[in-house]
Amino acid sequence: MREQLVSLIERSSLHRYIRDLKKNAELLEWVVAQSSALPPEAKLSERVYVALHGIEEAVCKRGKRKTFNALNKGYRFCAPACECRREEHSRMMGAHMAAIDGIERTRRRTKWRETLTQRYGQENPMRVTDIRARKLRTEAARRDKTPPAE
Ligand SMILES: [Zn+2]
Repeated sequence: MREQLVSLIERSSLHRYIRDLKKNAELLEWVVAQSSALPPEAKLSERVYVALHGIEEAVCKRGKRKTFNALNKGYRFCAPACECRREEHSRMMGAHMAAIDGIERTRRRTKWRETLTQRYGQENPMRVTDIRARKLRTEAARRDKTPPAE
């Protein structure tokens, strides 16, 4: 039945699928049965969505009913006063910040590698430390040998 519904939507369009679904009594009945957890006033488009994606999204984390947007868009947030909006917002910001952090870390690492390569022709910090140590030793040795001017 699910496949039937999917192919009906594919054959139809986002504007016409409701009309086509209403002509198919068996499929319509299945959609209504699949979405029986929704309140009676729920629109058919929402019922189709729930039949396809499950009921989980219909209710927010705080147990409130969310507003349905459209078949291709799913649900919106629930009431503006609901706690879940703030929670979801901070979760999204957290994910966003983590992503930014990741990008920033990569950027800094790349910059550091570039600097190392430019200065020492080597992007491995351990090898660079070696090179630097050797250079310092050589310079120190040279200084020791050269008598100070005046
Ligand atoms: Zn909520």
